[in-house]
Amino acid sequence: MADKITVGYTHLSGCTGCTVALADNYGGLLTLLDKYVDLKYMPTLADARHIQKVDVSFVEGSVCINDKLAVEEIKETREKSAVVVALGGCACYGNITRFGRGGQQNQPQHEAYLPIGDLIKVDVYIPGCAPTPQMIRNVAVMAYLLLKGTKEQKDLATKFLTPLMKATETTSACFCDLMVKVINQSLCMGCGSCAAACPVNAITMEYGKPQGERDLCIKCGACYNQCPRAWYSFDVVDNYEAINEAIMAALQ
Ligand code: SF4
Ligand code: SF4
Repeated sequence: MADKITVGYTHLSGCTGCTVALADNYGGLLTLLDKYVDLKYMPTLADARHIQKVDVSFVEGSVCINDKLAVEEIKETREKSAVVVALGGCACYGNITRFGRGGQQNQPQHEAYLPIGDLIKVDVYIPGCAPTPQMIRNVAVMAYLLLKGTKEQKDLATKFLTPLMKATETTSACFCDLMVKVINQSLCMGCGSCAAACPVNAITMEYGKPQGERDLCIKCGACYNQCPRAWYSFDVVDNYEAINEAIMAALQ
């Protein structure tokens, strides 16, 4: 087995739910730490006070642009990381922090929160509020295989990660993405995956089509990213078994 990859975890304006999702891998997390990942920086789990130079940084939370330290932290994360992964809806799309308006004690001036892609270049998205433990684990394994694996493993990892890299093209999300990019394009097949994915039950299926409750939507992007008509990668689908086997084998 080749060397471990070095990993950092920058925690900005997030709720630690993404950290909990990572921990929800239980034994899988211990396997990652044992075999593949040297955790250099993570305020919740590691006693390192400053952002470290690493291969991969996961970033949880959006950036309060009225908080000088947060802006410096995200820039420093970019400078010190070969790969930056936006972990969860807040880092990818702002999510609930899109509703931040300031005016609350004791920092009433903290009023504007942006997804990290509005401040730095992001390489990979893991959407979801919270993201699934399996997806975090899969990306960590695939990042390892991409950096340290054989040529065949690197090819497989590239296939797996490409849709998550393409997802970084936008920093906004809401139910309206389904309306504009799927339903209005006559692409919706009524499968209900979007309704199943929504963490706040803002989507119901009416006469076979999704209906969104705008006032409930927290703008996490889960529905659009889960929709099979929003993205479809032959590279991923055709290699599903090989990808799955590579991940399962890595976690043995
Ligand atoms: S409708 Fe639900 S899943 Fe879609 S963006 Fe809104 S909260 Fe997220
Ligand atoms: S996931 Fe996509 S295809 Fe399926 S019901 Fe929702 S919008 Fe339609």
